[in-house]
Amino acid sequence: MATFNFELSTLPPEAEALRDEVRTFLRQELAQYRGADRARSWGGFNRDFSRRMGERGWSGMTWPKKYGGHERSALERYVVLEETLAAGAPVSAHWVADRQSGPLLLRFGTEEQRQRFLPRIARGELAFAIGMSEPDSGSDLASIRTRAEKVAGGYRVNGTKIWTSNAHLSDYAIALFRTKVVPDKKHEGLSQFLVDLKSPGISIRPIIDLAGGHHFNEVHFQDCLVPDDMLVGKEGDGWKQVTTELGFERSGPERYLSSLQLVIELIREAGQEPGERAAALIGHFTAHLVTLRQMSLSIATMLQAGQNPNLEAAVVKDIGTTFEQEIPEAVHALIGAEPRVGSGSDFEKTLGYLVQHAPSFSLRGGTREVLRGIIARGLGLR
Ligand SMILES: Cc1cc2nc3c(=O)[nH]c(=O)nc-3n(C[C@H](O)[C@H](O)[C@H](O)COP(=O)(O)OP(=O)(O)OC[C@H]3O[C@@H](n4cnc5c(N)ncnc54)[C@H](O)[C@@H]3O)c2cc1C
Repeated sequence: MATFNFELSTLPPEAEALRDEVRTFLRQELAQYRGADRARSWGGFNRDFSRRMGERGWSGMTWPKKYGGHERSALERYVVLEETLAAGAPVSAHWVADRQSGPLLLRFGTEEQRQRFLPRIARGELAFAIGMSEPDSGSDLASIRTRAEKVAGGYRVNGTKIWTSNAHLSDYAIALFRTKVVPDKKHEGLSQFLVDLKSPGISIRPIIDLAGGHHFNEVHFQDCLVPDDMLVGKEGDGWKQVTTELGFERSGPERYLSSLQLVIELIREAGQEPGERAAALIGHFTAHLVTLRQMSLSIATMLQAGQNPNLEAAVVKDIGTTFEQEIPEAVHALIGAEPRVGSGSDFEKTLGYLVQHAPSFSLRGGTREVLRGIIARGLGLR
């Protein structure tokens, strides 16, 4: 049976040197942010913040300079990600593109696409959405039905994408469409496209989440023409490409830090002399955090060495999201007070926000069950 490969790793001095610089920047940028704002973490969307990250060279960090990148290491990028996520910075206006759309274009895009899009992503100017899920296709992504038919000059697209985070705020999406129906072979005939979200034929409708927020959308395509030069990679290679993209999506440190603000608020609330139960819970959270961080760091080290950490990333996402979901539940049980939304102390509002949002942590980016299937396959168990 195969095993996991989690080597103990440490960050090199140049990566640690960056940490202070990032912390100082974030302290100034987020001075007005309260606990509940920070708990929003990577759900936050702020183009000005993203541009300022770009000005500092903290988007597209590892990409070649000829595409606007900075040729820094995956470990330096890790420090920037870790600090911005731990601080609860509003990263999603640049981060989807930095994490997955840009790397996908770097790997599969044409030279023209790289030159046109990557420098603007690195400057924090372009926001991307992810157009994968459809009303009847989530976990079973290969069953998507949105059609892209070849016509003169491009592809005519008809169908619907759903749960498209921030599509209403973003410039482009990388979307997966069916370019050919191959009977009994659903993984074939899929292709990826760059889609300008302002194109004629696209309508974006809000889906309000259970906390009353507008983050999700339904994106409807009706005879929308996507030009030929927006095909990403080869027509029909979409499945291979999209699984690579999901690998980028799952390999970062974001999958265990979503409830960190509540741990910070709990420590603040418990004060210098916490009660026995609070002290035990803080110790429990800290032990898990330290271990998950070490596992996540080992994934960054594998990426830097050019290895493929998909199996280990699935493990960290599974254990990490279980941990993120446990935090609000355990804190709620400890304090015995009702979580608050809208009013209340920072501690109560942070708890309120996370109690409402934690159920989604193990769904986004692939559900727990799907991740466990990937882990079983990676270990040769199925
Ligand atoms: C916060 C958030 C943000 C999101 N953002 C985006 C986005 O920007 N773009 C996008 O395209 N999508 C996005 N999604 C959608 C997300 O990718 C899907 O919700 C997810 O893939 C699950 O698909 P589904 O909702 O259709 O559930 P289903 O696939 O219908 O699953 C329902 C349940 O059945 C289980 N299940 C399904 N198949 C199996 C199986 N083979 N074995 C065992 N159990 C199984 C699942 O684990 C789950 O518990 C987002 C979701 C969330 C929660």
